Amino acid sequence: MIEFDHVVMNFGEKEVLKDVSFSINNGKIFTFIGPSGSGKTTVLRLIDMLERPTSGKILIDGANVTKFHDREKIQVRRKMSMVFQKPSPLRGSVYANVAMGLQFRKVSGNEISRRVSESLEMVGLEGYEGRKAITLSGGEMQRVAIARAIATKPNVLLLDEPTANLDPVSTEKIESMIMALKDRFGITVVLSTHDMVQGQRLADSIAVVIDGRIGQIGTSKEIFYQPMDRAVAHMVGVEDILDGVVAENEAGLAAIDVNGVRITACTVASPSTPVTLYMRPEDITLYEKDSIRSSARNMFTGRITKVVSIGPMVRLKVDVGVELTAVLTQRSFEELGLALGKETELTFKASAIHVVERRDTE
Ligand code: ADP
Ligand code: MG
Repeated sequence: MIEFDHVVMNFGEKEVLKDVSFSINNGKIFTFIGPSGSGKTTVLRLIDMLERPTSGKILIDGANVTKFHDREKIQVRRKMSMVFQKPSPLRGSVYANVAMGLQFRKVSGNEISRRVSESLEMVGLEGYEGRKAITLSGGEMQRVAIARAIATKPNVLLLDEPTANLDPVSTEKIESMIMALKDRFGITVVLSTHDMVQGQRLADSIAVVIDGRIGQIGTSKEIFYQPMDRAVAHMVGVEDILDGVVAENEAGLAAIDVNGVRITACTVASPSTPVTLYMRPEDITLYEKDSIRSSARNMFTGRITKVVSIGPMVRLKVDVGVELTAVLTQRSFEELGLALGKETELTFKASAIHVVERRDTE
């Protein structure tokens, strides 16, 4: 288990981590998601003991490593391996690159050779031993860096943005490999990413890092569907964020007034409570007039005010009295005959909305 207890990290005047606490269970994938500059790499470097926190405690399997001297640190660090964001290709063969950590640990020659082959196989690069490292593609180099890290059989693997700048095929390979490492060897994987979708795919637990603070920690379902505040919601792609006031509430099904528009959502908040509604654009369905006989509570007509195509998907803004963002496939967009300025019908479920009571300071 890795625990941060009120950790603060300053670089000079700059407070880079502000009161960060979390715990990471063994044998799980724990992911830090956050924008660039939010403090993800600093967290990983602190876990790897490359930095010492300004204040607060870091516990690894119960031991307070913040107090450790170099000798004790080496003992703990030997059970961890970190792959940096931009692994620099070393000179020499792939074999030499992967063997590096083992030679450092004075493992015998035969054993080194066995573990190098095993690790290369694990990352899908069997037979690459003789290749010159500098001739590898970015994706292959990243996999060699991971092979080097796992060759030492760590309990904890730290991966700093392991797929940043890689193509989708290499990304997929690395993600499957990370899952396999956890499943086959029970390795604890701690990784950072700015890609929320990657976080959702991989993580058992996610911590959202915003400006040196942990905005929220939870399962991917909690983070993606029940964000606690605007900053977290924004980071994880919840684009429909509406402030309103509860008008009526009948047994947990509330009518919420949002700028004169009535939206039905599930909440226990009583009438007159100010609330914020959070909804994912994928949860809004657009349809042709009269094509749905539905008892759905939230059905609106609105004008399309913005259209942005992103590959096979289209992102729309629709003004139904308040502006909502919806996402649909290019194919549906064409089949529905939609276009900028046209009217469309849309619907969403009361259960698709996450309601948070608003404090006046927000
Ligand atoms: P992320 O990995 O999320 O992009 P980092 O942890 O690398 O964020 O950095 C967080 C902040 O700390 C940034 O503003 C960065 O400039 C600053 N920072 C990181 N390392 C140092 C350092 N060694 N000295 C001074 N500032 C640093
Ligand atoms: Mg970083």
